[in-house]
Amino acid sequence: MMNDEITPRRLVLRVALASVFSLVVPITLFGARSTGANSAAAAATKKLTQASVQYQTKPKGEKMCSSCMNFIAESKTCKLVDGSISPDGWCILWAKKA
Ligand code: SF4
Repeated sequence: MMNDEITPRRLVLRVALASVFSLVVPITLFGARSTGANSAAAAATKKLTQASVQYQTKPKGEKMCSSCMNFIAESKTCKLVDGSISPDGWCILWAKKA
């Protein structure tokens, strides 16, 4: 015997299930992604301290920030090291500009 009428008990159960899925599915799908994206963004923006890379404001022989691939001349900053960077400076991360 088929009964097309939904009992109040089944209706309550369906509404409860729909509510749970409407919360769980977005959190599962997007919650982890946003956490991962935030972590990646935080890691990408975090630079090393000048002290940790033995930064100095004078060159090391021929090696200096202005000839390093990580130096950003426009802002006198570095892609890897925090703070203001002198074009004449140097640190242990120096890498020849291509
Ligand atoms: S990595 Fe070091 S040497 Fe290169 S620009 Fe940055 S501070 Fe200067």
